Amino acid sequence: MRTVSILGATGSVGTSTLDLVEREPDRFRVVALTANCDVERLAAAARRTGAELAVVADESCLPALRDALSGTGTAVAGGAQAICDAAALGADWTMGAIVGCAGLRPTLAAIERGGTVVLANKEPLVSAGDIITAAAATHGATLLPADSEHNAVFQCLDPTRPDNVRRIILTASGGPFRDWTLEQMAAVTPAQAVAHPNWSMGAKISVDSATMMNKGLELIEAARLFPVPPERIEIVIHRQSVIHSMVDYVDGSMLAQLGPSDMRVPIAHCLAWPERMATPMAPLDLVKLGRLDFEAPDALRFHALTLARDAAEAGGARPAILNAANEVAVAAFLAGAIGFLEIAAIVDDTLQRYDPAAPETLDAVLAIDAEARRRAGERVKDCVA
Ligand code: NAD
Ligand code: MG
Repeated sequence: MRTVSILGATGSVGTSTLDLVEREPDRFRVVALTANCDVERLAAAARRTGAELAVVADESCLPALRDALSGTGTAVAGGAQAICDAAALGADWTMGAIVGCAGLRPTLAAIERGGTVVLANKEPLVSAGDIITAAAATHGATLLPADSEHNAVFQCLDPTRPDNVRRIILTASGGPFRDWTLEQMAAVTPAQAVAHPNWSMGAKISVDSATMMNKGLELIEAARLFPVPPERIEIVIHRQSVIHSMVDYVDGSMLAQLGPSDMRVPIAHCLAWPERMATPMAPLDLVKLGRLDFEAPDALRFHALTLARDAAEAGGARPAILNAANEVAVAAFLAGAIGFLEIAAIVDDTLQRYDPAAPETLDAVLAIDAEARRRAGERVKDCVA
């Protein structure tokens, strides 16, 4: 029996994780489930799984959660610190599926308790990757990547022999606007941007996929997780999203992981690791699929890719600034305050005007994150004015 906690249990990744956990009640027991404020979903999941603890980050939602779970055996709590406390309960296996840098402290709290910590939440890895991987080494925690590309690389790469690796090749669907002109992209609405052709995901990552900032964040994420520098990590557009990424070895062998575009496949890999578990997805039908296409990404239409690669190669504070400015710009776009192409423009502008020294500590990362958010917020106001 493996004890499981899910941080961000009401989101897209959290829901997929719950689906797998609930299929095998003899194998998994739920300790803590957390959400921002989606009381209805959180309480329903806690009731179904008999979770020990349910936590909302937004304290104003705690009374509703208490009502919803009264008479059950599930304890409730609220606030950002309560999320970290839930992460620190020390489940054998913790899924980090909060969206954005809000997941950084909870992820670290889980890592400090050891055990297995699964990283879907990519923004903290981008901003504070060195701190996260160092904490895992110090506390003996096992980090497993749930992001489909990184899970694919994890399955194909032998990290003890990095010299044998020539390149990591991350595949990208290209998002909903892969064939659109810049003129068309200028008029994109939030509803169009969140309608991904291949994957069903939360709003923020869907917009990131549409700008291709998601692939840029994933480039940085890969360089944090695997012993391969960003210069040897390539991005290729693969519209079918069947190959989830590849590792190219010096002898000419290239290993790929294939699967349906359903997050339950990489999550199941992490949930059962080092074993395997069955999932409800139909096996890939290669004949029906017929063909796999690949093309180079267009840096002109997807400026975010260039910004992210530059940040990855420069290192230091650049990834944290890129991520913070992007979180602010995406929220502003989703709120209807700025246009689609202004997302990358605001990130670019924030990077150009803010160049602090490399952060050495978590507090330094958080200070850079806060200042980059403030500056990006000012740029949003300029756009609105
Ligand atoms: P989502 O928006 O669907 O869910 C986010 C979850 O985090 C929800 O449970 C929400 O209540 C919680 N949350 C939001 N703000 C919070 C806060 N301030 N404090 C605590 N909890 C908060 O997002 P998602 O699509 O499930 O993505 C989650 C993370 O996983 C993101 O970092 C994303 O980049 C990454 N990811 C997602 C997918 C996918 O298929 N959705 C794939 C790969 C990686
Ligand atoms: Mg991904």
